[in-house]
Amino acid sequence: MSGGGKKHDWHTRLSHAGRAGTRAYGFVNPPVHRGSTVLYPSMDERRFGASQRLEQKLLYGVMGTPTHYPLEDIIAEIEGGTRCQIVSSGLAAITTPLLAYLKAGEHLLLPDSVYGPARTFANGLLRNLGIETTYYDPMLDGAGLEALIRPNTTVLYLESPGSHTFEVQDVPALAAAAHRHGVKVLMDNTWGIHHFQPFQHGVDVSIQALTKYVVGHSDVLLGSIVTNSDADWERVRLTTLALGQYASPDDCWLALRGVRTMAVRMDRQQESSLEVARWLAGRPEVARVLHPALPSCPGHEVWKRDFTGACSLFGIVLRPDISQGAVHAMAEHLELFGIGASWGGYESLILPTTGFITRTAGSGDFGGQTVRLHVGLEEPSDLIADLERGFSMLPQFGR
Ligand SMILES: *Cc1c(COP(=O)(O)O)cnc(C)c1O
Repeated sequence: MSGGGKKHDWHTRLSHAGRAGTRAYGFVNPPVHRGSTVLYPSMDERRFGASQRLEQKLLYGVMGTPTHYPLEDIIAEIEGGTRCQIVSSGLAAITTPLLAYLKAGEHLLLPDSVYGPARTFANGLLRNLGIETTYYDPMLDGAGLEALIRPNTTVLYLESPGSHTFEVQDVPALAAAAHRHGVKVLMDNTWGIHHFQPFQHGVDVSIQALTKYVVGHSDVLLGSIVTNSDADWERVRLTTLALGQYASPDDCWLALRGVRTMAVRMDRQQESSLEVARWLAGRPEVARVLHPALPSCPGHEVWKRDFTGACSLFGIVLRPDISQGAVHAMAEHLELFGIGASWGGYESLILPTTGFITRTAGSGDFGGQTVRLHVGLEEPSDLIADLERGFSMLPQFGR
C-alpha cells in the first residue's frame, strides 16, 4: 500500500504510507515479525531467492522482515527517494554509506560542523583504512568547495544545519560543484526531515537518525539510508549486508508507531521552538540565537529558500562575559529542560555545548558560551518561565 503519492499533504501521507497491506492480515498496523531462518519449500525456490538477493528479501532475517519493509517504504516516501535501508542507529547510517563509497587512497570532504561521532569515525577508522579527510567551512560556496576537490576526492558529505552550531549549507551549489567532478554527495538530513527534500537539491544519499523525530519518544535508536537510483541502492545495500547491519524488528515497529504522529508533533514543536527562540532573542544574556528560521542564524537566507519549515532544535550564544560555570548552574537550575544529548522526543532538553564543539577548519568561533536547546511538546509559556528561572543564575546585565 503506498500513500496515494505526492498529491496528498504530508499529514495524510503519514497516515497511509508504509502500511503492511495483506501482510498484516487486515490489521491496521503490521505485526512484529521476528526471525532468522526463512524456510523454503524447495531448493529451486531458495536458489531463486539467492539470485535475487537485493530484491527478494525474505531469504534470511538479516535481510529484513515484513516489519522492516513498511518502515523502509514510509521513510523513502518522506525523504522523496526510491529505496531505504534501515540500520541500527543514526551513526550506523553515517558510517555505512561512507564505507560504501570510499576506499584506500581516496579523499573525503567533511563539514567542520559535522556531528561529532562522524568526525571520530573519519579521524580513526577511515584514516586507518587509508582514507584522508579534509574539513571545510560549512558556509563555503560552490567555488570555495571546488578549490578543495582533488583528483582522488570521491565523497562530499553535507550536514545542514550543522550539529550544535546550525550553519545552513547551500546544498544545491555544493552538490553541483561536487557533481562537476564526479564526486558523490552524502547528506545527514536529520534536522531537515520532511522540511528539506534532499534529492530535489542534488543529494545522492540521504542519512537520517530515526532516533529523533520518527521514533519521537526517546526510547529507540535507529537509522535510515535513502537512495534515489538503482546503482546507489545496490552499493548501499551490499555494504549494509557485508557489515551484518541489522535493526531489531521491535524497534522498527516502535518507529512505525512513532512516525504516524510525527507531523503533528513537528508542527507543534516548530511553533513552540520559535516562541522560545524569539523570547531568548530578546534577553540581554543572549548574544545570538542560532535558529535557522531566524535571521541571526548563519545561512538563514538559504534556509528560507530551500526548507519548508524548521524542527525544534536550535542553539544560543551567551554574552561573552558569562562563564561556563554560570551556564552549567543555569542548566542545573531548570526543572522542565533535562540535561541530555539526543533530541526529537516529546520532552525538552538543554545541553551546554562549549567544549563539545571541535573545529579544525577555522569556522564557528561564536565568542561566547554556546547552548543547545530542544523544545518538546510542553506548553511554551511553561518552558519560558523555566528558562527565566534558570537565567536568574546568570550574572545580570549591567551589574
Ligand atoms: C543524533 C544524531 C545522529 C546519530 O543518531 P543515533 O541514532 O543517536 O546514532 C546523527 N546525526 C545527527 C545530526 C544527530 O543529531
